[in-house]
Amino acid sequence: MSKNLTKRSEDYSKWYNELVVKADLAENSGVRGCMVIKPYGYAIWEKMQAELDRMFKETGHQNAYFPLFIPKSYFSKEASHVDGFAKECAVVTHYRLRTAEDGKTIEVDPDAKLEEELIVRPTSETIIWDTYRGWVQSYRDLPLLINQWANVVRWEMRTRLFLRTAEFLWQEGHTAHATEKEAVAEAEQMLDVYADFAENFMAIPVIKGVKTANERFAGAIETYCIEALMQDGKALQAGTSHFLGQNFAKAFDVKFANKEGKQEYVWATSWGVSTRLMGALIMTHSDDNGLVLPPNLAPIQVVIVPIYKTDEQFDAVSETAKELMAKLRKLNISVKYDNRDTHKPGFKFNEYELKGVPVRIGLGPKDLENGTFEVARRDTLSKEVVASEDVVAHIQNLLEEIQTNLYAKAQTYRDANITEVNNFDEFKDVLENKGGFIAAHWDGTPETEDKIKNLTKATIRCIALNRKEEPGSCVLTGNPSAGRVLFAKAY
Ligand code: AMP
Repeated sequence: MSKNLTKRSEDYSKWYNELVVKADLAENSGVRGCMVIKPYGYAIWEKMQAELDRMFKETGHQNAYFPLFIPKSYFSKEASHVDGFAKECAVVTHYRLRTAEDGKTIEVDPDAKLEEELIVRPTSETIIWDTYRGWVQSYRDLPLLINQWANVVRWEMRTRLFLRTAEFLWQEGHTAHATEKEAVAEAEQMLDVYADFAENFMAIPVIKGVKTANERFAGAIETYCIEALMQDGKALQAGTSHFLGQNFAKAFDVKFANKEGKQEYVWATSWGVSTRLMGALIMTHSDDNGLVLPPNLAPIQVVIVPIYKTDEQFDAVSETAKELMAKLRKLNISVKYDNRDTHKPGFKFNEYELKGVPVRIGLGPKDLENGTFEVARRDTLSKEVVASEDVVAHIQNLLEEIQTNLYAKAQTYRDANITEVNNFDEFKDVLENKGGFIAAHWDGTPETEDKIKNLTKATIRCIALNRKEEPGSCVLTGNPSAGRVLFAKAY
C-alpha cells in the first residue's frame, strides 16, 4: 500500500483530510456536510463512548433517549437559545412525498404540510426540559442525572470531517438540581470528567476554563470548556459543560416543592462531547506516516505479521503467533494476526503504520530459530528484538509506555506553545509566526474581543480556571485587566 500522504509541513489541512480517508476513518458522503464513519473510525469512537459511558455512570448518571424532532414552539420558549441556534436549524415541514405530474420525479406533497413544523434537534435542552416538567414535583425527585447518546444536526456552512459536520454524533448530559450550588458543582464535575478522559485516555493535554460571554452556549449562564492545542498551532474546543441557571426551568415551567413546601424553579446543567474528539485525536498525535493511536483507543493494539516463503514456514510461524495471541488476549490486549496471503509483509507494515496500530510484530523463520520476536512501536517508529520468554511482559509495558509517551510529547509541545505577550504588535507577531495559545491581558469587554477577532481571526479560547490573578493592561485598549486570557486561532 502506497501511503503518499501530503506532509504536515506542506499543507496541514490537506494532510488531515487525506489521513482521515486513507486510514479508513471516514469519508465525505453524498449529503452536504455529512460524513460516513467507516468501521475503523467507528471502532475508535466506540472505545471513546465506552470509557465516557463508564465515567458518567460512575458519577451517578443514567442514559435515556429523547425524540429527534423538536416542535418549533418548544424551541422558541428560551429566547437566547433560539437566537443562538436559529441560523443553523434543519426544519421538517412535510410528512409525505408524491409522484410529480411528469409521472417520474418525486415531489413534496403540498397536502401533507405539518401543522407545526419540527426542528431536527441541534441540542436537546428544550425537549428534555419540556419532559422534566412531568418528572419533577418535589425536592425528592432531584437531582435528575441523565445522559443521552445521539446524533444532532447543525446546518454548518464550512464543514470538515469530524471537526465540524452538519450531522454529528455526541452525548449530551442534562441534569436538574434543587440548588444553584449543586448545579454549578455538577457542571464543574463534568468538566473534570472530560479533562480526565482527554488526558488519561486520549493522551491529549487540555486547559480547563470558562468561555467569555461572546463564546458562551446560547442559553447558558456559564460555559466551562476544555481546550486543546493541535499540531498546527490552532486550538480546538474539545468539550463543554454549561451551567444553565434557571433559564430552561423558567421557560418550561419546571418547579419543585422544596423541604418547606415552597415552589422553586429547578437549576440546570448540560454538557457534551462529540465526534469532534476524533479530529482532536488525529491532530494531536499523528505524523507524516499516518495515524498514531494511544493504546487506550486503538481497536487493534498489537498486530502480528507473518513473514514466510513456504507453507511449512507459514505453519510454523502461525503456531507461534497463535500462542502469543492467546497469552496477550488473556491480558485483555487486543491483537490481530494478519495471515492474509493476498498481501506482502511490506504492504501490511505500511497499512498498520497508516492506521496507527501501536505495536507491530514481524515474525519469520529466523525469529523462530533464534527464539525472538521483532517488536516495532508506532509512536517512535523504532524496533527491538525481544526474547520469547520476555515478550508478553515487554508488550504489556510497551503499551503503557506508548500511552505515557504520547501524552508527554503532546504536553511538551502544548506548553512550549503558550506565549505571554504584552502589546498588540507582539500579539500579531506571535499569532502570525508561531501560533499556539497567546496569554494576553484583555479589558473584559465583548467589544474588544470582537475587535481583536476582526483584526486577527484569534478568539478568546478561555479564561483558564487556574490562571494567576495578575492585574495588567489590555493588549488592544490599554484598559485595566484582571488577568491574562488565552487567545488562539481555532478550529
Ligand atoms: P455545544 O453544545 O455547542 O456546547 O457543543 C457540544 C460539543 O459538540 C462541543 O464539544 C463541541 O466542540 C462539539 N461540536 C459543536 N459543533 C460541532 C460540529 N458541527 N461538529 C462536531 N462537533 C461539534
